[in-house]
Amino acid sequence: MISTRSRRGGAPAGVSFTTAIRRGLAPDGGLYLPSRLPGVTAVTLRTLREAAVDAPGSPEALALTARHILEPFLDDPADAVLLERLPELCRHAFEAPIPLRVLDERTSLLELHHGPTAAFKDMAARFLAGALSAVGMRGHVLVATSGDTGSAVAAAFEGRPGFRVSVLFPDRGVSDRQAHLLSCFGGGDADDAGGGSGNVGSGNVRSYRVDGTFDDAQAMVKAALADPELVREHGLTSANSISLGRLLPQATWFAHSALAREGETKGAFPGFVIPGGNFGHGLAALWARHMGFPLGPIHLATNRNRALVDWFDHGRADPRPSVRTPANAMDVGVPSNLERLRFQVEGDPAFARDVTASAVGDREILSAVGRAPDRWGVTVCPHTACALHALEALRAQGGDGRPWIVLATAHPAKFPEVVEPRIGAEVPLPPALARLLARPARAHDIGADPEALKDEVRNGAETRRSPPRS
Ligand SMILES: *Cc1c(COP(=O)(O)O)cnc(C)c1O
Repeated sequence: MISTRSRRGGAPAGVSFTTAIRRGLAPDGGLYLPSRLPGVTAVTLRTLREAAVDAPGSPEALALTARHILEPFLDDPADAVLLERLPELCRHAFEAPIPLRVLDERTSLLELHHGPTAAFKDMAARFLAGALSAVGMRGHVLVATSGDTGSAVAAAFEGRPGFRVSVLFPDRGVSDRQAHLLSCFGGGDADDAGGGSGNVGSGNVRSYRVDGTFDDAQAMVKAALADPELVREHGLTSANSISLGRLLPQATWFAHSALAREGETKGAFPGFVIPGGNFGHGLAALWARHMGFPLGPIHLATNRNRALVDWFDHGRADPRPSVRTPANAMDVGVPSNLERLRFQVEGDPAFARDVTASAVGDREILSAVGRAPDRWGVTVCPHTACALHALEALRAQGGDGRPWIVLATAHPAKFPEVVEPRIGAEVPLPPALARLLARPARAHDIGADPEALKDEVRNGAETRRSPPRS
């Protein structure tokens, strides 16, 4: 059972996992949390360890791990459909491999960018989309995004019967390539570069370029979701990382990679360095560890937006406006999942043991991007560079020589304007991104006005489109 936790002190009513993902947010405005984290059994650990050692990073081993992690949460009669369809939903979510690349004898890179939009958000977005379809949900998904979330969610819901998706991104603060990736899912007349039109042309995704900032886009989505009549009539819902259906599946790759490395570590579980923004990814790591998977210390690397550092250093984080950095998917002033962490830690102070955080400055991020090819033999995105820099700093302070796993959260080709000048070379496009960039991009221009979005939702059938500005 999942319980509702509310900022407003509402009753912690138990609801099923199915209800929690259908609703996203609890009716009282609180965030859903598992009421209990089921411990993994010795038998399951053995099975998953064998799978991880035999075929590390393979879709089959990942899907199997996801199934074992998620199954205990589907313990309510209302979860019968999800329980029955779980194996297939996990295979769908983990279609791409997640290789654990060896950088040196104590350092590995977990490459989470081999999915359809080359960011770690693909896997859980695909799980959520599949799960919502499986339970018969229909509706209109609204996403405000400044980067990876919008394209991952659009890709996951594209062509799904019964769903519309509206992606809102700011006119300012999104690079040309990001804007293209956020605007290439709606094309009614597009041809897939791979030949055949496939899902392209289903036209259930629309992109809006907001004349304003990310905060303006987010305010528009929140205003629409706060309009009960609009929500009811159009089945409005959100697919951002407040949804448990986007958070829990992320525990999969922490469990899997920890098991893959466990045998090499002589008693010291591998540590993890996670590039952190809203802290959804970090929370999933803590869940995996709490369930009994062999994760060692966890370090969150963030940029000048230092809320996570304040939290782990002082136990509190005052809300601050976000500042723009070269690692823009982590430009978060108030990480939404700290509310969940606060409840978990109140219930069990040991929950967040062995977690540290550090803030990496813009210059350090850029220099880590530039150094990575020589120092580590890889080209990395600015978020991953933050984590590599943080690991070097951690090791410079001493430490026990244990192995560390660094999470590569996005492909560097998504951020050419940051990466290419630093490494003095072009970043080759992975095939998935090349296919998306070959599609035409179309975004509607919309003012930074909540009423304008509500009008668009009401007039959803109309298909006015304007070509992207360059
Ligand atoms: C979303 C994102 C992050 C931050 O993840 P959180 O779960 O919000 O902490 C880091 N890196 C990249 C590339 C992202 O897209």
